[in-house]
Amino acid sequence: MEQIYTIPVNEAFDLVLEKKECGCPFCVLYRRLQEDELDIILGASMMEPDIRIKTNEQGFCHTHYGMMLGRKRMLGIGLILESHLDEVRRKLDGPVVLGNKRAAAISALGELERDCYVCGRISRNLNAMISTAVYLWESDPDFRKKFEGAPYFCLPHYRAMIDYASKKMPKRIYADFYDVSHGIEERYLGELRGDVSWFCKKFDYRYDEEPWYNSKDSVQRTIKFLSGDPKGE
Ligand SMILES: [Zn+2]
Ligand SMILES: [Zn+2]
Repeated sequence: MEQIYTIPVNEAFDLVLEKKECGCPFCVLYRRLQEDELDIILGASMMEPDIRIKTNEQGFCHTHYGMMLGRKRMLGIGLILESHLDEVRRKLDGPVVLGNKRAAAISALGELERDCYVCGRISRNLNAMISTAVYLWESDPDFRKKFEGAPYFCLPHYRAMIDYASKKMPKRIYADFYDVSHGIEERYLGELRGDVSWFCKKFDYRYDEEPWYNSKDSVQRTIKFLSGDPKGE
């Protein structure tokens, strides 16, 4: 088990316990990993050959190119792109010595489209953090209490968590874990459903005088629940 992640995982669950508006604890961890990766990529490690070989090969997704631009380290980005373009040329030309170069280009460009150095790094680390949370739930009674206080898990992270737990936990323990996790989701889904309904009603003039209650940001909160909150907006 990845002991190195017990501290950040505990911190994320502490944070959402105290500030419900921070939402899914794994999205909190996702955003932290994302910040760290962008710092590394545009910081001191930018010229490290090991990393450059990977960024040349994989490139980045639209979101992460955008976040890199936001950091205004233009020379750094320029240098990364300069050598990445050489790799792109190889893929464009069909990276095989013998065989069908045009078919090789289609598959190489397809792979490039799906690949992102930052997404790949985040995903590997976040999976280890999800395993850590499942392990802590099983072994640490204090963590179990915190876990129960989580406001919700976004659906992609909920699915990843119970998928991992279903494969790793003994059956009886998994049944308990599933019930607790499912209960958290069910409660939040019920809340959201009510808030979104009220939000829609408020567009009817007959409800003009009624208060908004907790519905004003219910559309935004629903989208975060359904698809995660990678930018923390
Ligand atoms: Zn999430
Ligand atoms: Zn990405």
